[in-house]
Amino acid sequence: MGQHTNGIHHHGYVEDTPLNQALPAHERLTKLDAVEILHSPDEVAQWLASTLRAAMGRSEEEVSFDDEWDQWVKFAQSGETITTGLSHGPTISAVVVPEAECRCTSTPLVPVGGKKRGR
Ligand SMILES: [Zn+2]
Repeated sequence: MGQHTNGIHHHGYVEDTPLNQALPAHERLTKLDAVEILHSPDEVAQWLASTLRAAMGRSEEEVSFDDEWDQWVKFAQSGETITTGLSHGPTISAVVVPEAECRCTSTPLVPVGGKKRGR
């Protein structure tokens, strides 16, 4: 477990919009700043679960996401983008990023403080 999928990783994005109004996954890579860089399938599942729980205002005891967790790990292992979230928002996604298209190694992430970076 916990092995690195070769050459790819995931970026975690949180959009404050319902799923049906969220950006297409490939546009998130260029239009949004990743809130988290996820390097293993376990990290992806961990991040999705904790971010979803935070959005729902629930604790780990209240929602465990056991079934979802297995699915998320499987999807992440096969290099797929995972999108989840609440029906009225936010939309939470782990977008798969080929190493060649990744900006996170060249661009240091700026902590999001409510203002958008001009780009
Ligand atoms: Zn990256």
